[in-house]
Amino acid sequence: MDPIDDAALMAQAEAARGFAHAPYSRFRVGAALLADGGAVIPGCNVENASYGATICAERTAVVAAVAAGHRRFTAIAIAGPAGIALGPCGMCRQVLSEFAPDGSLRVLTRDAAGAIHATTIAQLLPAAFSATDLASSTRD
Ligand SMILES: [Zn+2]
Repeated sequence: MDPIDDAALMAQAEAARGFAHAPYSRFRVGAALLADGGAVIPGCNVENASYGATICAERTAVVAAVAAGHRRFTAIAIAGPAGIALGPCGMCRQVLSEFAPDGSLRVLTRDAAGAIHATTIAQLLPAAFSATDLASSTRD
């Protein structure tokens, strides 16, 4: 599979945004998760009338990817409404870090002007809680 560049991955996130189910917030978000084998898994936010059951675009992409057998990822692009800078929420940062324990997962976002910016999950969630923390606990 040919490698995909940042702009193309963001374009797939924007396409996924079109499938968002956001009748309550009307805040549509799309994501495109790049697996290490080159597959791109889309995600979009899926809201629910029971607001707490809502799931973000980033996590729908992770869940769909894992269900399809992917466990290692190199990048995720996140596309929100035009004109605002949007990054992943804290819960999504934690979920992304689960599958990028070395912190190198690239996170692509757009600024208010639409320019793509790259950071890493380690920069967005330093000192993330991880399996190492569980292993070192006494669990009592
Ligand atoms: Zn989120």
